[in-house]
Amino acid sequence: MSDASRPGTGPGRLHANIAALAELNDDPAAGGITREVYTPTYGRAVELVSEWMREAGLHVGLDEVGNLYGSWAGSDRGASYVMTGSHIDTTLNAGAYDGVLGVLGAIEAVHALRARGFTPRRTLQVVAWAGEEPRFGTGCVGSRCVVGDLSRADLDRLVDRDGVTMAAALSEAGFDPDEVRDAVINPSGVHALVELHIEQAIVLETHGEPIGVVEAIAAPHDFRLVFEGAATHAGATPMSLRRDALVGAAEAVVAVERAARASSSGTTVGTVGVVRALPGAINVVPGVAALDVDVRDSDAAAREEVVARIVEESRAIAEARGLTLRVEEIVIDTPVTCSPDVVAASVAACEELQYNYRRMISGAYHDAMILGRKVPVGMIFVPSRGGVSHHPDEYTAPEELDRGVDVLAGTLERLCR
Ligand SMILES: [Zn+2]
Repeated sequence: MSDASRPGTGPGRLHANIAALAELNDDPAAGGITREVYTPTYGRAVELVSEWMREAGLHVGLDEVGNLYGSWAGSDRGASYVMTGSHIDTTLNAGAYDGVLGVLGAIEAVHALRARGFTPRRTLQVVAWAGEEPRFGTGCVGSRCVVGDLSRADLDRLVDRDGVTMAAALSEAGFDPDEVRDAVINPSGVHALVELHIEQAIVLETHGEPIGVVEAIAAPHDFRLVFEGAATHAGATPMSLRRDALVGAAEAVVAVERAARASSSGTTVGTVGVVRALPGAINVVPGVAALDVDVRDSDAAAREEVVARIVEESRAIAEARGLTLRVEEIVIDTPVTCSPDVVAASVAACEELQYNYRRMISGAYHDAMILGRKVPVGMIFVPSRGGVSHHPDEYTAPEELDRGVDVLAGTLERLCR
């Protein structure tokens, strides 16, 4: 069936196909890969991956929001089905593996299962979710539509950095935004979902382990702390008479770190990734300072304790400095505990293959987190060199990719029996 001498088939097919997909790039001059969802370049990637799905004997179709499905029909048509996949969109100037491994690796796992004569009892569906990266501010728009999170009105509310709404982008790509509700799936029809992904951190590399079996997916609680004081003259205002919003915010940055470190779960992380000071002139005391705070954990209760502590300490800091504090919510997602059955299937696959593995938490969120609210999910990680991701230097060695596919195939084989 496959011809090893032709690139993109047989041995080396996965690596050749990852390289071929990386060629579909809207900004090659700047380095890295730029392939945002619903662009013509993304459309070409969907066509290419559809072709690869068909070569693997999958029955291919797109849903109403551009999620790409490739099905391998099981012998028991009445049984709930198994899903696996990730995404083929990228953020700006990104790497070649984030998301792509989970889709092309799933196609490769189908080839491997067919080669060993496996016939699935449950139908296996390979998925490339549309828009995992946050082109429209929110990530995972394709999987959010599938679980019914996004309404027609939301598609008008979500805009990209150029002011294009998700509804307009969908129309431009040939979809009808009025049909968004038709993309919703019935979760009771899904037996399990497993996503293969690069780790995007250094835990596996640090421990020299080739595989991570994910037991829980952390979710963010993002919010904004806005301190307000008085924008007075930097030369004319004595230190004792200032209400400097940025100095208050600076204390709050340290409070975020302190609260996350003191978390009862030991796994909470807290980050201030954005700082804005206004009016932003060297000769004016900052009158307004805003911090965008991201707090994550797989333990929602511990995460919320940390958020409460940050807000409480920030109020005390504001009061002591004569500032006012406003807290604005950005997003609160729900952490997901992976299905013990999916975890057990991946562990059994690792043991059969005699691959070392680590049970771990996913600090980053993925489409599996969105689906995990409705269906049993699991994830398999392979190492990311230096933890670098969303960057041209993102790298996972070919043999590490292959091991991930081996474990995915073993997991799917067990779940589809
Ligand atoms: Zn990803």
